[in-house]
Amino acid sequence: MLVPVRCFTCGNVIADRYEEFQAALKKSTNPSDTLDSLGIKRYCCRRMLLTTVETIQQIIPFQEAVHKRNLEVKAELE
Ligand SMILES: [Zn+2]
Repeated sequence: MLVPVRCFTCGNVIADRYEEFQAALKKSTNPSDTLDSLGIKRYCCRRMLLTTVETIQQIIPFQEAVHKRNLEVKAELE
């Protein structure tokens, strides 16, 4: 899933802090301290960053394969 732009519950913009959170998470071992340092206090916003799994890089190869196969089928039909 793509990173949500806003918190689903309160509507706070969180997408601008996602990359910063991921980078800080690699340095720090405690996600709670990382979220505090980013100024994310509400637990609804914190769960948004903690539970997001970025799957777009895993999906892209399948989408490219489907597109390539569609082109092959169209070429065979013509
Ligand atoms: Zn929120």
